[in-house]
Amino acid sequence: MEKEGRIYVDLDNTLIDSVAYYRGNDGKRVVITLEGKERYGTIVRAEALTLLDFCRKIRPTLLLTAGMKDYALAINEKLNLGFKEQEVITREDWCYEETGGWGMGTYVPLKTKVDPKAILIDDIHPDEKISGQNAIWPRIKMEYLGIKEERFIKVRRFTG
Ligand SMILES: [Mg+2]
Repeated sequence: MEKEGRIYVDLDNTLIDSVAYYRGNDGKRVVITLEGKERYGTIVRAEALTLLDFCRKIRPTLLLTAGMKDYALAINEKLNLGFKEQEVITREDWCYEETGGWGMGTYVPLKTKVDPKAILIDDIHPDEKISGQNAIWPRIKMEYLGIKEERFIKVRRFTG
């Protein structure tokens, strides 16, 4: 299969919803405990696996998340999202934090234009404001991939 023009799917609130410091025990959420870190209660979106099957029939499909590697790999495995390890692209792989003045850090993509024919599926629109702040991740993801808005597909935010 061609390498360019892959489909990149966001993790949190697109495919799954995670609650940090989860203490519940109702069986609805899968408990994920990361070494030396908090406990998450995670639930997969009803349509998520169907969406992934559909994407995989069209193009090679990868996970592209601002989440960290241990978190994303654990969720991929425990919730059977079906990504191979090399298809799980996490924050460490695609961006770094540039420390600015006054404690204002900003994230910068490690590379840009890695796949300008890509499609990005995400729950946050690049122009969306969250708590009054511009959502940063979709824009950084788009810069990393080298895509414009016509290659961005927003899905309804899934919150469990
Ligand atoms: Mg998201």
